[in-house]
Amino acid sequence: MEEQVQCAKCPGTYCYPTIDADQKPDFEKAPSFCPTKLYEDVIGQSVRQYYRKGVSELTRLASVQEFECYEHTPDGIKTKIPRIEETIQFARKNGFHKLRLAFCSGLADEARIFTEILERRGFEVASVCCKVGAVPKERIGIKPDEKISGPGSYESMCNPISQAEILNAERVDFVILLGLCVGHDSLFIRYCQKPMTVLAVKDRVTGHNPLAALYLSRSIYYGRLRRLAGD
Ligand code: SF4
Repeated sequence: MEEQVQCAKCPGTYCYPTIDADQKPDFEKAPSFCPTKLYEDVIGQSVRQYYRKGVSELTRLASVQEFECYEHTPDGIKTKIPRIEETIQFARKNGFHKLRLAFCSGLADEARIFTEILERRGFEVASVCCKVGAVPKERIGIKPDEKISGPGSYESMCNPISQAEILNAERVDFVILLGLCVGHDSLFIRYCQKPMTVLAVKDRVTGHNPLAALYLSRSIYYGRLRRLAGD
């Protein structure tokens, strides 16, 4: 069987070593599943993409932004800003003025607050909600007993392809995703042709912080996540 790339199981830090700038990373002891070893050609070709017009500056500024999220203090490196400010700073750096939110109807309040924050900082902000079009769920084969509000209710489907196509049709500098569901976000990302980032993903249980469940997976509260399937 072909070796599968398995960075999540890597025992070392071969691709982000603690060495001086004039030294070379050493991959001799890196595991056989290491994609740096297995996909040298792909990496060589893909790195060339960063020099393309329209990509190179975005690439450089993404790393500058990453750098600016830390501060060097006598006590060591500290983190500085939450993701909202990181997003604002990144948009400014790139000269993105027309920002567009693609948000979930369940986060309409958050979308309003975020719009206000962005507008106060001088951005032009517009947005599209996931229920745009009010297309009934029956159109995609949802049965009455699969409707969240009950069989007799009118239920609009989440409509991520329309969300994406509306933003594709407009003059947009930067799209920000806010709280789309798993699957709906997959479709949005597949269809949206504009530069985008994600402010938050939907997690109905953890205040839209899915990693909270991961962090608790070693505790009794979400220990079920670590049990084998079928347990
Ligand atoms: S690229 Fe190689 S060295 Fe880096 S994390 Fe993946 S397996 Fe480990």
